[in-house]
This record gives sequence, structure tokens and C-alpha cells, in this order.
Amino acid sequence: MHVCIIGAGIIGTSTAWQFARQGARVTLIEASSGAGLATSYANGGQLSYSYVAPLAEPGVLPYLPKWLFNGESPLRFRPRLDPHQWRWCLAFMLACRSSQVKDTTAAMLTLSYLSRDTLHQWMNETPISFHHKTNGKLIAYRSPALVKKARKLVAYQAGYGAQQSVLNRQECIALEPALGELGEALAGAVYTPGEEVGDCHLLTTGLFNAISRHSAAVVRTGAHVRKLIRSGNRIVAAELDSGEHITADHFVVAAGMASRRLLQTVNEEAMLYGLKGYSLSIPMSDAPGAAPAISVTDYERRIVYAPIGPVMRIAAMVDMGDRSADINPQRIALLKRQVNNTFPSLDTASATEWAGERPATPTGKPIIGRSHAAENLWLNIGHGALGFTVACGSAVLLQALVSGQPVPINARPFASR
Ligand SMILES: Cc1cc2nc3c(=O)[nH]c(=O)nc-3n(C[C@H](O)[C@H](O)[C@H](O)COP(=O)(O)OP(=O)(O)OC[C@H]3O[C@@H](n4cnc5c(N)ncnc54)[C@H](O)[C@@H]3O)c2cc1C
Repeated sequence: MHVCIIGAGIIGTSTAWQFARQGARVTLIEASSGAGLATSYANGGQLSYSYVAPLAEPGVLPYLPKWLFNGESPLRFRPRLDPHQWRWCLAFMLACRSSQVKDTTAAMLTLSYLSRDTLHQWMNETPISFHHKTNGKLIAYRSPALVKKARKLVAYQAGYGAQQSVLNRQECIALEPALGELGEALAGAVYTPGEEVGDCHLLTTGLFNAISRHSAAVVRTGAHVRKLIRSGNRIVAAELDSGEHITADHFVVAAGMASRRLLQTVNEEAMLYGLKGYSLSIPMSDAPGAAPAISVTDYERRIVYAPIGPVMRIAAMVDMGDRSADINPQRIALLKRQVNNTFPSLDTASATEWAGERPATPTGKPIIGRSHAAENLWLNIGHGALGFTVACGSAVLLQALVSGQPVPINARPFASR
């Protein structure tokens, strides 16, 4: 079987690796000069296996007016005369029903645990250096009411195997002294000792290099697929900008945000919207001892702090309607102010700034499965805020579906419609 995979972000690269491991012939096509240079580049670095609840949840709705019209909020919405934006927003609101949230969370937990086990297996087989560490995660709350609510989620997730505990302020600071900087503002936290971190770009390039050394694989960089060519119910080729046709038995679209445009060439409308976020990478040498060693999420501000090798990676914000991954100076300045306010010893002046677009579906579930446009066209798209966390599981699930093998988890929640 020859499989052509379009896009070498963390999703396409993991998918290509899984096919190569399973003995398929693989062609991996990437538009940029290398792998993992788009959204997979400087994300939050969290392998957040137990924190997969979607952004769409009933608790978000009352916050929306405050977030949307307050320039200092973690979520910013720029309305557009764009029917796709409104359709996506409507679907997002519908996805906030609690029954849907429970189903999504349960499905995402199965995918994330499959991902964790797969990543560990791959690293045993083919070690890749990407600053991978199991350092645990603390979700820190400023509001006592949110700590109370978090207890319910912890109890629900325990039913799916999550090992978490709720800590009061003293217990939090004893575990992570850097949280002492929050003082009285800290109400408590949920602690998950098994959570991991790593550098998504390094893992992507490590896998990409392993694929390029594989005897049955070909990687192409600087090769932009401008359209898919369909004949009857099958895709017969991926056409590059140069006019070259790449043929294969199966085609997998894993092109992140650009998947929507590519799928339109075969009249498939993917419900993807770009949720822009920002990151700062601060050299740890500039803040010895001041930075948290455990990953910390400042819940109300939706800011994530993760020590990744030589840097403290800080990721935040959900901006809708910007249509690009350009850095907005006001938003990055706001992020720096909030970081300075929470952890004054972190030197934001020395930070490397970055922005990326999370390729998000309204429900928060990725689309992993057969496209409706052709019988040999497959999708691995829409991983939103969790692409690094669920990449390996998504790859394993898709490869099983394409190959007609037994699936390791229920694939139905991730089907394209
Ligand atoms: C601020 C921020 C923080 C985040 N933090 C986390 C985190 O802590 N943990 C986590 O799990 N996830 C996190 N994410 C989400 C994660 O980064 C994404 O879900 C993931 O990177 C998406 O990967 P992808 O491979 O689908 O897309 P991308 O990484 O964007 O890759 C798509 C690739 O396809 C290529 N491509 C596009 N079109 C074509 C074409 N026509 N032909 C050929 N190639 C093409 C692109 O050049 C690109 O390389 C974060 C995201 C952001 C923005």
C-alpha cells in the first residue's frame, strides 16, 4: 500500500511514521522548508493527557460577553462578514450542551491515553530527544468556586482512569514553591502527577528525520499541494504548484489550518476555524529557581507555564477572526504584563515571541477518518488546542482505519460527520 500524507506538522509526521512502522510505502509532502514550522512550532508543549475537556462547555457561555468585549480577556473575538465564522460559532454554541461535553471528554480521554501509550512505545523503539519529561501539572484557580467545580470534573474523569487530586493553597505551595508568588490570590489547584511536557517542534523534526531515513518512505519539502485530483470516487493524484502529480493508493490530509482550503478543491467543507494563540519562550538561565518546575495553568487567565528543556514556555490566548498567525503587539504586551504580574521574577524582556493558529473544530474533537469526497481520501485534522497531546493516538487510529485493521479505540466520535 502506498500512502501520500499532506502536511508535516506533528499530525502528518506522526501519521507518516505510523504507516512506515506498519510497512506501508509512504510519501510525506510538506509545503515549507522543513517539518513542524507552522502551528507545531512553539506551542505550549503540554502532553496534557487528562485535560482534554473541550473549550465549548456550558460554563463558558456566561463568560463570553465579558471575554468578547474586554480587551484584557484571554479570549478575543473579531466578528467578520464571513458565513463560515458564524456557522462555526453557532456550532460551537450548540456544542456547549453538557451532554455533548461529557461525550467529547470521554472520547478525547480514550484518544489521549492511546496517544500517551503510543508515544512511550515509539520512544522505546526509536529514542528522539525532545526535552520530554513527566513533571506533572497543576491547574491553579484564583476563585474558590472554581476549585469546588473542579472537584466534580476530577470525580468524573476518575471514572476514565485519570489520577488527579485537589489541593488547597498550602499544599500547592508545598508542592510547587514558585506558586508562592500568587500569595492570597491562589485558591487551590488540581494536581495531575502523570502529565508530561516536551518540545513539539523537536519531536516533529525527530520523527521527520526518522521517516526520511526509512527505506520505504520519501519526504518532500518545499512542495505545496495546490489541489487534489479526483476521478470518479477516487483521488488519483495530489497536484503540486509545479504541476507535478504525486500518485498513491490512499491520500491523507493533515495540513493543519490549510486543510480546509485544500479540501475545497474536492468540494469538501471542513468545519475548521483558526483560534490564534501566543507563546513566549524565556531562557531558564534568566530565572534560575524562579520558574515553576511543574507545569502550571493559571486557569482564570488561561495561561500555561511549562519548563521545556532550556526554556520556560508560556502559552495563552484564544483570538478568533484574525485570519493569520501574525503577532498582534497589543496582545503579546498584555500577555507579558500578566506574566510579570503572576511571576515577577520571569524576565519577559528576554522572551522569544510566537503565534500560531489552532486548527479547531466547534466540538473540540479532531476529525479522524474517511472523507466524504472520495473513498481513498482520509482526514487527520482539527486537533485544536491538543494536537501535540493526541497526535500519536490519532496516527494509530487513522492507520488502522485506512488499513482495515481492528481499531484500538472507538473511531465513531471522530468520524467526519
Ligand atoms: C499558542 C498555542 C499553544 C498550544 N499548546 C499546545 C499544548 O500545550 N499541547 C498540545 O497538545 N497542543 C497545543 N497546541 C495545539 C497544537 O500546536 C496543534 O494542535 C498542532 O500543532 C496542529 O498540528 P497540525 O500538524 O495539524 O498542523 P500544523 O503544525 O500547522 O502542520 C500543518 C503542516 O501542513 C503544511 N501544509 C499546509 N498546507 C499544505 C499543502 N497544501 N501542501 C503541503 N503542505 C501543506 C504546513 O506547512 C504545515 O507544516 C497549541 C497551539 C497554539 C497555537
